[in-house]
Amino acid sequence: MASDPKISKYLFVTGGVVSSLGKGVASASLGKLLEARGFRVTIIKCDPYLNVDPGTMNPYQHGEVYVTQDGAETDLDLGHYERFISSTMTAANNITAGKIYHSVITKERRGEYLGATVQVIPHVTDEIKGFLRRISAEKTYDFVICEIGGTVGDIESLPFLEAIRQFRQELGRENAIDIHLTLIPYIRTADELKTKPTQHSVGKLREIGIQPDILLCRTEKPLSLDLRKKISLFCNVAVEQVIAIPDVDDIYKVPLILEKEGLDRIVTRLVGLKCGGGNLNDWKTRVIDKIEAPAHRIQIAVVGKYTELQDAYKSIYEALKHGGIANNCAIDILKIDSGTLVDNNPNELLSGVDGILIPGGFGDRGLEGKIKAAQYARENKVPYFGVCLGMQCAVIEFARNVCKMTGANTAEINPKVAFPVIHLMEDQKKVTDKGGSMRLGSYICKVKSGTVAHRAYHKNEIQERHRHRYEYNNKYKVKMEQHGMTISGVSPNGRLVEIIELQDHPWFVGCQFHPEFQSKPDHPHPLFRDFIKAALKKRLKLK
Ligand code: GLN
Repeated sequence: MASDPKISKYLFVTGGVVSSLGKGVASASLGKLLEARGFRVTIIKCDPYLNVDPGTMNPYQHGEVYVTQDGAETDLDLGHYERFISSTMTAANNITAGKIYHSVITKERRGEYLGATVQVIPHVTDEIKGFLRRISAEKTYDFVICEIGGTVGDIESLPFLEAIRQFRQELGRENAIDIHLTLIPYIRTADELKTKPTQHSVGKLREIGIQPDILLCRTEKPLSLDLRKKISLFCNVAVEQVIAIPDVDDIYKVPLILEKEGLDRIVTRLVGLKCGGGNLNDWKTRVIDKIEAPAHRIQIAVVGKYTELQDAYKSIYEALKHGGIANNCAIDILKIDSGTLVDNNPNELLSGVDGILIPGGFGDRGLEGKIKAAQYARENKVPYFGVCLGMQCAVIEFARNVCKMTGANTAEINPKVAFPVIHLMEDQKKVTDKGGSMRLGSYICKVKSGTVAHRAYHKNEIQERHRHRYEYNNKYKVKMEQHGMTISGVSPNGRLVEIIELQDHPWFVGCQFHPEFQSKPDHPHPLFRDFIKAALKKRLKLK
């Protein structure tokens, strides 16, 4: 089959040997590289688990739940995709086995299979292929990168791999290639890099009928030509298609590594396209150079419930870094478990920090610690940024300690509290389906001029992404405003409070939405940029 430049080329990214090799970052970086060459790119994540989406999974299981503009709760890898490439992710960019089976079973109940025995092959695999095809039917892309979660050899991912095999068979190898990300471990005692796990992993792939076209080898030591030749021989992959990705100190450098290894040239050659012009210079000067040589360094405390997990606040940590890039400043993040603040003096933990951020969250564990952190920030004039639950904590604290509403709280903890300053809106009360009562996805917010928020956005109207059930209770608005809280952002009809700030403070902002989902290293979010700016001012003791 001749290569047709008008149809999307599918690049499947599978994983071998172990998980956590950075398949998401590798896929996003490849996307970045191809975009820099002028191609239109999107990226899909296929997750083999049976949850329909990760919205109901706890952060210990899954890390952060990333919310797309159209309100889908998705895998955190979609966050990497949006931070690296310019395409906007939607619900269609994350497929789970649960979503596929749900769709197949719904069709079966409707009788759509006309009496057939419904099976993994062909019904489930057809459904997967249908999802993969639909993404390029709606919008034309030159490349659809498709990352398969998990590791080759997992039982769960078999239907996805079988679907890829069929897909490649149907479209032709020149339209659908497999890029296998693998590990070449370094054995210290032998002082050697070992290729055997990669050989086994590729063998496993071949067993299911997939011969990889490119190997991306994660290593902690440089991969010599001899080793590349050995991998090439045993894995049946041309030597120049054996690519090394050494460990790096910053994920934003990965596109540069792939560029140096010539991955863009190899991919475009394999799919029969001309490698376009363009390069990563912009990314290098606007992102990497700033990360490499920051003029300043500050410390930001992130007070949360899952601070021991790397991935629970992924987008928050990244957005803080972006704020640092905008201010020529490196950020040290001090992760504080909010539970430890409940019975301790916040002074001991927070006295050295330049800014305090409270991220989103659910439930009551550690909530009082977060409220204490908000109080500390307000009283000591430490820049404060409250995101979602972090805004709600700031409101509770202000109600209790400034407006003297003793025991004020969120109805999430106690629906019968005397001052429910954060509550459930009437129309949400009737919804019983767990996911159903959430306000999810992008909403318009009007920003009041003359406020800290307006100075950040320079806009009267913005759009930000939400994921929460509870809202600011308008009943207490006037009282709080009289005591010095400004409502600086509201929904278009004025009914929902979206941003609050304090007047008598260098920088104290809370927002009901999640700005971290829209921050990129080369386009830092304005609120994160200004929060870091305020923290840096404090550090430099500038007025
Ligand atoms: N638990 C709060 C709510 O549901 C905040 C949610 C969040 O921070 N994402 O409103």
